[in-house]
Amino acid sequence: MNKKIAIFPGSFDPITKGHENILLRALPLFDEVIISIGINHSKQSYFTLEQRKKWVSEVFANVPKVRVETYTGLTIDFCKKMNAGFILRGLRTSADFEFEKAIAQNNKVMAPEIETVFILPVSELSAINSTIVRDIIRNGGNAKPFVPESINLNI
Ligand code: ADP
Repeated sequence: MNKKIAIFPGSFDPITKGHENILLRALPLFDEVIISIGINHSKQSYFTLEQRKKWVSEVFANVPKVRVETYTGLTIDFCKKMNAGFILRGLRTSADFEFEKAIAQNNKVMAPEIETVFILPVSELSAINSTIVRDIIRNGGNAKPFVPESINLNI
């Protein structure tokens, strides 16, 4: 049987407890999940790619099924390169739903062999997003409650 490989694409700027929860809950469904940090040239990130990758790698250092990669270009092309049949995404809000629906349906036209799998956040994590975490950090607040225990935001 083919290995079930999923990619979990995103900016992870920075990784939050929301990302961590979605990934851990998706793990039983797949043989391998590749956290894929997208390099988007038209979107300036707050943290460097190296820093984002380091944090994500630290969070999942003891989880053998998880790998971390970076990519440019279309997510479906990266899936093909990684032999991944699945794209994992989290759905927090109805705005997420509309946005993700359009992307997933267009991806399906371009790459019918790839399925997008959505997981809903647990209610206590559904309000967390990287934009808010960045704002807290930028303004000197304490973002610790929103990021995985193991990451050290004092860089
Ligand atoms: P992108 O810029 O591609 O949205 P993000 O890093 O913001 O990248 O998000 C990556 C994925 O993680 C998205 O599918 C997003 O919905 C999901 N995600 C982010 N925060 C949460 C959360 N609190 N609960 C569930 N899913 C989340």
